[in-house]
Amino acid sequence: MKRGCKARGGGRVATILLIDDSQTHRAEIRSVIDASGLFERVLEASDGLRGLKLLLAEAVDVVLCDLEMPGLDGDKLLLARSSRPGAANVPFVFLTASQDMGRRARLLEDGACDAITKPFHPIDLVARLRLHLKVKRLQDELLVKNATLARLSTVDELTGLRSRRYVSEVLSIEFQRARRYGTPLSLVMADLDHFKAVNDCYGHPGGDVVLKGVAELLRGSLRATDVAGRYGGEEFLLVLPQIERDGALIMAERWRASIEHGDFAAADGRPIHVEISVGVAQYASSMANTDALILAADQALYLAKQNGRNRVELYEARASESETAPGGAAPSRIR
Ligand code: GH3
Ligand code: MG
Ligand code: MG
Ligand code: MG
Repeated sequence: MKRGCKARGGGRVATILLIDDSQTHRAEIRSVIDASGLFERVLEASDGLRGLKLLLAEAVDVVLCDLEMPGLDGDKLLLARSSRPGAANVPFVFLTASQDMGRRARLLEDGACDAITKPFHPIDLVARLRLHLKVKRLQDELLVKNATLARLSTVDELTGLRSRRYVSEVLSIEFQRARRYGTPLSLVMADLDHFKAVNDCYGHPGGDVVLKGVAELLRGSLRATDVAGRYGGEEFLLVLPQIERDGALIMAERWRASIEHGDFAAADGRPIHVEISVGVAQYASSMANTDALILAADQALYLAKQNGRNRVELYEARASESETAPGGAAPSRIR
């Protein structure tokens, strides 16, 4: 293995696995690979089984494999690795003297990405390995990007809470459950008070410290089945399945008080004091869809703002309107 070389392609060392039962062939191929400077790490195996073990144990970028080998030959090795997660995506390049075009075509059908004729020309071999390494790198980058996109669509990057999209989907499922089984469902909508002033005074990074801290306090007061998301800039939405009115009010009030009584620290050490207004609503059979429940929580939040902020308000349909959708109902103040 060449040492002291800089890793390429996202910090990972480019690695090739060379499988050939002939030591002479391996040495010949190896000298070409080393001279190319394409790979920082060269792993060698003298038969198919050892090659498969190395492939499963190591992070390999390209496999360069002999076709005729005693025991597990190239064809069987190719099939064996196809069923192994992690190994199935590694490009397989075969080196073969076989003139059996049907067999060579089958290799490509079974997932090999190239079949090079022996004796090979070093320039041709290196050019093909360069191409396959490049494709592997692009494929790895795509996998990382896809994983990041999937994560970003469900998690809010700043706070680590759920994304708006995720929390909306959960609400939709829980709404159906509550409707079908008549189980309680509470929804909490919260909005930081005068948050614009926090940004004005401590800068955007100071505001971000607060958002993270508020999320942390929230995580401490939730049960495993509760789902909390950042709904907008400084707005939070909490879905509390199986939670009755009183349970939701207690949870909301505890969170509100913890924010009021605990300052956050700006980067320069200054304490940042913030407060939050919270609206609480319950699922009711009169609600046509999740929008009605969100509107109810939003109305309670609006009342909390109107009544002086830093408080929790409950949306409560009046007895005469309990079977109507929110709009005519009046939120009631609890603090
Ligand atoms: P109110 O009490 O009525 O809610 O007043 P407010 O100042 O909180 O309301 P407003 O909606 O006017 O301001 C919200 C502010 O939140 C404005 C915006 O700059 C800030 N904000 C939104 N998203 C972020 C963010 O990700 N980071 C930071 N630092 N600030 C944000
Ligand atoms: Mg051989
Ligand atoms: Mg707001
Ligand atoms: Mg606000």
